[in-house]
Amino acid sequence: MAVIDFEFRNSIIQKDLGNTLAYCYQCGTCSGACPVAQVTNGRYNPRKLILNSLLGLKDNLLLGTENNFNIWGCTVCDTCDEMCPQNVELTEIFTLLKNMSVKKGEAPDYYTTQAKFILEHGKAIPLAPAIERRRDQMGLPKAPKVDKKEVRALLKETGLEKIIGPIEEEKKEGEK
Ligand code: SF4
Ligand code: SF4
Repeated sequence: MAVIDFEFRNSIIQKDLGNTLAYCYQCGTCSGACPVAQVTNGRYNPRKLILNSLLGLKDNLLLGTENNFNIWGCTVCDTCDEMCPQNVELTEIFTLLKNMSVKKGEAPDYYTTQAKFILEHGKAIPLAPAIERRRDQMGLPKAPKVDKKEVRALLKETGLEKIIGPIEEEKKEGEK
């Protein structure tokens, strides 16, 4: 049975910039334009995500690992935001849902692994020697070095480490 969670719904409406959620009239333009909806034959559906947020159907269709694809399928390409005739801030709302999923410890492993990697190395993809050689061959300048400490300090301010746990380097320091 669907359970409406008014507190959840109101928290999204309050945090959504400009309270745009309530303007959705379910035209489906977002789902029609969404590349993920197209390649998954509608299994991922931004219109339904917005509807379920409006209805406050948190436990049935939004949060919970069994519903992970419903919110984590979005690649944040922003196409829906650009196409929505009501200027609903879809990706903003989806980010709120993803943040809730992370806080509940339900984010997919690929997300937390990538987040840990950025916390540890300052970037999502390491610069392998093969990439450096290819850049040289193409006459590109050396890729700029990343200041790991600076990135880490910024991410710590966001509270990321509290959610995903300490990184390897710091675990070892703590064991000394
Ligand atoms: S395009 Fe905008 S108004 Fe239409 S269903 Fe999507 S969010 Fe709602
Ligand atoms: S931002 Fe997400 S929901 Fe919107 S079109 Fe892109 S993949 Fe689809």
